[in-house]
Amino acid sequence: MKDFAFYLEKNGEVGFADQVFKSIVHAHGLPNAHPKEVLLFESGELGYVLALNADTVEIAMISQPTVKVGTRIARTDSTLKIHVGDELMGTTITSQDIEKTLLSIDEDNKTDRPIDENHTVFGDHTKVGISLETQVTMVDLLVPLGKGQRELIIGDRKTGKTSFLLQTIRAQADKGFVCIYVSIAKTQQETRQLYHSFQSSGIAKNSIIITSNSADRPGLIFLTPYIAVTIAEYFRDQGKDVIVVLDDLTTHARYYREIMLLTKRFPGRNSYPGDIFYIHSRLLERAGNYKKGSITCLPVAQSVVSDLSGYIQTNLMSMTDGHIFFDSDLFDQGRRPAINPFISVTRVGEQTQTPLRREISRQLRGFLTNFEKIKQFKHFQNELSENVKASFNMGEQLTVMLDQLTTTQVPVSLSTFLFGAIWGELWKNIAAPTMKEDMDKIIAKYHKESPFKQKIEDLVQKSTTLAELTQAIKDNQELVRSV
Ligand code: ATP
Ligand code: MG
Repeated sequence: MKDFAFYLEKNGEVGFADQVFKSIVHAHGLPNAHPKEVLLFESGELGYVLALNADTVEIAMISQPTVKVGTRIARTDSTLKIHVGDELMGTTITSQDIEKTLLSIDEDNKTDRPIDENHTVFGDHTKVGISLETQVTMVDLLVPLGKGQRELIIGDRKTGKTSFLLQTIRAQADKGFVCIYVSIAKTQQETRQLYHSFQSSGIAKNSIIITSNSADRPGLIFLTPYIAVTIAEYFRDQGKDVIVVLDDLTTHARYYREIMLLTKRFPGRNSYPGDIFYIHSRLLERAGNYKKGSITCLPVAQSVVSDLSGYIQTNLMSMTDGHIFFDSDLFDQGRRPAINPFISVTRVGEQTQTPLRREISRQLRGFLTNFEKIKQFKHFQNELSENVKASFNMGEQLTVMLDQLTTTQVPVSLSTFLFGAIWGELWKNIAAPTMKEDMDKIIAKYHKESPFKQKIEDLVQKSTTLAELTQAIKDNQELVRSV
């Protein structure tokens, strides 16, 4: 970037800081400044225009050191831009890096993109039509996702949201997806943990991690999800499939509220500014399925005591294509993943499913709903009829099947097979824990032996209805019995 004197000369306007309040600066003397323009302070700091008043300009600071009243300010005539390119793949972008790239705005650099613009041409969208495998049985069978879908991941603190997201990314990373993980205002320890998980599971080379720290300027934290989507759009334009995780948008909203309260905007519901819906919706509308590639977006929202009716949470629900709810009660009961399938929703995932998977989803959901109702009769076990006992056992088996450690990846064909085996009563009168042992062996064998894997995949591929699937599994019992 050129120096302060250069910009002062170029744009012929010099501003002076009138008022400095935390990370917000009010200045006068910049009559032609435009919204989101990057401004350079005499002391080398960076900020951007938040709002234009009658004769003053509101500036959000990006850099850390504080500006003093009277500091001179120059316009750069450039809006917030970020450098994009293939070399970002496999890197971690920290807030310092963001500051650096924002500082290096050269006017004619073709690889720079404005971060706050939707780079989509009208008519580029297509229907979400291809399914996206998360390799988490619960989600693949009950809340299926599609490529280009926006699905909210919502739940209380420490209920396994990040673990699920990492599992989903792991399932995509080998398939040539570009995975972008934005960690918004986390502590340094959390960031380090995240970085470590990416390294240890071997997904780092196909991913870009964008981190901001809770000690960073709110003005900078606010920008991180927009930067992520801008990078995602770059890869989409090259025909790639991208998956963007925004962890989490409730925190993002809180930082935006902080900025807006500092600028004395009129506070609305829960003190959030009136445009908070717009702030998030214009971010999420950039995801979707396109003719060239796709951007699947998984924003995270934190809930408090499992309350889904919060302001930001409901806003986010209404601008996404469904939500997966991580239930703290289920987590406390020891269920992993702690997803509550009855409250989770997928609005476009269904249309990407094969008829077989749709049938499985319907049957499984129906069965589990009934099982929830009859669970309370468990202590009458001896007085129950054989039929009810059998349903009971199957319910327990299905529950155990849906439990999955983060280290286990279960591809869709395998989860379909395992479901079919339980549904076809291949483990009739066998207790759920014993069945789980067999199942773990099948999963291990599937990953280890490719002929075995091929047989299962062929079997699932050939079946078009659940009846056909269970029959095919009964005809090939040795696949289950041999382990
Ligand atoms: P935060 O609110 O802090 O972001 P979170 O909702 O992202 O938390 P995680 O950090 O993913 O939750 O998980 C919390 C704990 O639960 C971790 O210790 C993790 O190892 C464990 N956990 C989550 N899912 C599973 C699973 N499927 N199998 C085993 N352990 C799990
Ligand atoms: Mg998390």
